[in-house]
Amino acid sequence: MKKIEMVIECPACEGSGVYNGIGEGDGLAVICYKCNGSGAYKYHYSYNEFTGRKIKEGILRVYKQGYGYKLGLGTINFDMVGEVDMTSEGVSYQEFLDGKEPEHIKKLACPMLADQGACHSIKGFIDECGRLHGSMLLGIRLTQCNYYPRKAKCWKRFKKLKGEE
Ligand SMILES: [Zn+2]
Repeated sequence: MKKIEMVIECPACEGSGVYNGIGEGDGLAVICYKCNGSGAYKYHYSYNEFTGRKIKEGILRVYKQGYGYKLGLGTINFDMVGEVDMTSEGVSYQEFLDGKEPEHIKKLACPMLADQGACHSIKGFIDECGRLHGSMLLGIRLTQCNYYPRKAKCWKRFKKLKGEE
């Protein structure tokens, strides 16, 4: 374990040692709780130097994301989704170590749940989500989208608009 220690300007009071926030009226300050008035803050950080990727014992498969579900091995029955054979999803740990990247579990997550950034970057994609759901997808969980059970079609739309199909 290596350590970094240095004295930095207190981030709470910007090095002044005194604090004037919402609770303090004009022209007064209280002693900064973080540095006790010194204006200095002793920063320390412990770390292990990277010496190459380590092997994690007991791992059999690797998936891209969890999508908020509790994942497991074998055939898992997911709420609102049904059975998913997890051995045909993701990649084996060895494949991961060899550099193979797992794909999204498309039975589990719609494109928006898997990669909102990509969906936002496709012109009109999210407008269509709203149309399929029946109203804007604001303030609801994506799994509550009326179209969620038909998300395979959304993946097709996603791939087509991204020019992958
Ligand atoms: Zn301070």
